[in-house]
Amino acid sequence: MAQYGFDLHIHSCLSPCAENSSQPAVMAGMFALSGFKIIALTDHNSCGNCAAFLKACEYYGLLGLPGMELNTSEEVHVVCLFETLEGAMDFSSTVYKSLPPVKNRKSIFGDQLYTDAEGTVIGEEEKLLISASGIGIYQVKELAESCGGFAYPAHIDRSSNSLISNLGLWDPDMGFSMAELSMACPEDFTLRKDLKGLRFVKGSDAHRIEQIPLSPVQFMDLDELSAAAVLSWLRK
Ligand SMILES: [Zn+2]
Ligand SMILES: [Zn+2]
Repeated sequence: MAQYGFDLHIHSCLSPCAENSSQPAVMAGMFALSGFKIIALTDHNSCGNCAAFLKACEYYGLLGLPGMELNTSEEVHVVCLFETLEGAMDFSSTVYKSLPPVKNRKSIFGDQLYTDAEGTVIGEEEKLLISASGIGIYQVKELAESCGGFAYPAHIDRSSNSLISNLGLWDPDMGFSMAELSMACPEDFTLRKDLKGLRFVKGSDAHRIEQIPLSPVQFMDLDELSAAAVLSWLRK
């Protein structure tokens, strides 16, 4: 059994709100320098840069997980993580089809860049990825599981795009067993009665390199360093 520092909420230049310099390879390299061992790429409503990210993680000796920060139809952000790239891409394709046909306005929202594992830009996404998808919060758990994934609401302590801020309370019928807290979450937040029995992880939500923590703030004990082991740690 070994302990691995992790961060499962990271953006790349495919997210319009991230810097163009936040290529998957740059983010992976900087997380490696900060001492992390397990990281996940969770761009808004897309897993389109995950292939490049996984390759870059391998190069830097990290375990990379393919993921997404889904924006539900209620504008609630949910971290979705997958064991395989194939599962992630299946999920991504369903989410993409459910997005409204709204084009990105680069001057307002920023670029949405696809890159390869070396950081070369290989394409641009024209559809706006930060729109609300057509997937409702009560559908997420099952849809993620059907693609071999695991989902939990993101930054539930924040005042925008969070389950608590948008819906008012935690409904166990949504089926989530875990929740993510922001790095700035007040210590007593998890004492809320409706959060009783949940497990919590923290996510940096780093969109640019300055937002990468200087060192990991949380660790997982795993028998082996694999995506399957991480998913089973999350599900336990
Ligand atoms: Zn978010
Ligand atoms: Zn995020």
